[in-house]
Parts: sequence; structure tokens; C-alpha cells
Amino acid sequence: MSELAARLSAIDARIADAARLAGRDPGEITRIVVTKFHPASLVQDLYDLGVREVGENRQQELTAKRGDLGDLADLRWHFIGQAQTNKASAIRRSADAVHSVDRARLADALHRAADDDGRLDVLVQVNLTDDPARGGIAPADADALAEHVLGLSSLRLRGVMAVAPLDEEPASAFARLRAVAERIRSLDSAADWISAGMTGDFVEAIAAGATHLRIGSAITGPRPDRG
Ligand SMILES: *Cc1c(COP(=O)(O)O)cnc(C)c1O
Repeated sequence: MSELAARLSAIDARIADAARLAGRDPGEITRIVVTKFHPASLVQDLYDLGVREVGENRQQELTAKRGDLGDLADLRWHFIGQAQTNKASAIRRSADAVHSVDRARLADALHRAADDDGRLDVLVQVNLTDDPARGGIAPADADALAEHVLGLSSLRLRGVMAVAPLDEEPASAFARLRAVAERIRSLDSAADWISAGMTGDFVEAIAAGATHLRIGSAITGPRPDRG
């Protein structure tokens, strides 16, 4: 078995263990493999191993890789990076889901970029730190942003996303995210995704109810230099 296959199955086993420990069904958890900075050939290798959900955090890289691998029709691309409003239509053309909607202007731009009747899955990114530069909307403002998204007919609100702070136990940060997630799900029952958990904290995220994990280096190996 290749190293990549071995890492993938080792992580999947840890996900299943963490789910059972939390009294959850592993089948309700989606593992997104974050492929940023790696070549499209790695995405192809993952696809050949059965991966159908991948994550990218830069629009140009997403667009380029999706162009290279356009024939993988059932591969879903998740955009997980900070998004500039002027890149919204390029993001919309290449992403199946956008996890990082953190302001009304960005939601509006993604909505205006719709070019057919399809709806784009979006998540409200919540900032669990006190640092506004870290991306995401403050927890207290997340509900209003979610209401705004619900008013945009070409977007489908799917839930919330967050990255754990560096200076706090992930469990306590994810507990705050879960509270926000519950409020947002009460606005629309389809908004039931909690996108949380990376290589270093996916076990804690699963315990806190995460439905979508974004795991990079534990599966792909170390990222090449971003140049
Ligand atoms: C890079 C990235 C990840 C994956 O990080 P790893 O620590 O490599 O698992 C997850 N979420 C976001 C938003 C990222 O930018």
C-alpha cells in the first residue's frame, strides 16, 4: 500500500474511533482532504483511493486544479480560505461549497455571481479568537449573517465553520462553535453542518459535534513550500 493510502486509512480509523468514543455514527462525518499547495496529481491520487471531498484555500489554486482535473465529475471541491469579494465569481465557478462566508458583502457577491439555477452551499465562518484578522465573523454577529444568507436565493445555508485558536484548548473553543451552530440550525434545519477539526484537533472537533473535518497534512504529508 502506498504511503498516501496508509495515511488515509490510518486517519479514517482514528476518525471512526473518535466518533464511537463520542457516541456518534462515523458515517455521519465527512472527511475533507485539504490539498492546498500540493499538485493536482495528488488530488488525482486521492481520487483513485476513493476520496470525493477535497479542500483548497486559495481561489487561483482551486481554479487551476479543478481545470486540470475537470473530468472527475463526482469530486466535490470545498473552498475553505479567506475570500476576497472580487474573487467571488471565480470561487463560485470552481467551488461546490464555500466554508468561509464571513461578511454580507461576500455573500452578496457570491449570490450575484450565480449563472444558472443551481444553489451554492455556503457556511458562515465564525471567528473563535479575539483577533479580527484571523477571519470569520464574531459569534454574536453570526446569526444576522446567517439570516442575510437565507435571503439570497442562489445560496444554500449549510451551517458554520471555524478554525480553533492557537492559544486555547480546542474543546472549549469548539463548544462555543457548537452553541453558534445550534442557533443557526434553528433558523433553517438544512444548516446542520459544523465544519471544524484539522490534523491537530479533529478528535476534539468530533466530540463537539463536527460533521465536516478539514484534514490536510496528516493525510497528504507535509505541504510543499508555498513559494
Ligand atoms: C490548511 C487548512 C486546514 C488543514 O490543516 P492541517 O493542519 O494540515 O490538517 C484546515 N482548515 C483550513 C481553513 C486550512 O487553511
